[in-house]
Amino acid sequence: MTKNELLSKTKKLTKKYVSIICPNWTVTADTGNLGYPNPRAMSIARVDERLAHVIVDYQAKEEELDHLVVHELLHVILEPLQRFIEVLKKERCTEAESTIINNLYQTILENTIEDLVKTIMKLKGIKYGTHLNIVNYYCK
Ligand SMILES: [Zn+2]
Repeated sequence: MTKNELLSKTKKLTKKYVSIICPNWTVTADTGNLGYPNPRAMSIARVDERLAHVIVDYQAKEEELDHLVVHELLHVILEPLQRFIEVLKKERCTEAESTIINNLYQTILENTIEDLVKTIMKLKGIKYGTHLNIVNYYCK
């Protein structure tokens, strides 16, 4: 798959899944070199404006694109939970407690998202891949 094919397919799948997962959001898609620690995709979400951007790494394989896009769009709609955790940590936690909460939250979040991806892939009749190394970022 060439870079242009990857970009075209990423944009097409993002449009398709936005209509299912987060139709009230405006989501753009792109491809790029995400580098270390080798995430296959990432997302950036601005909750207040309901704007998000999904980026799929050049190393992504065609057979994992559905999975990657769905995973990132689930991060987008779960972004308010991330905001809640950030406020909780800032207002109520010591640095040590904040680290523990963050690690637990990220583990629970990634596992929950993967369970939801698996469900959506099953409903759409698409083969579910193994857990991918995906990083989620957000803007304040
Ligand atoms: Zn993730």
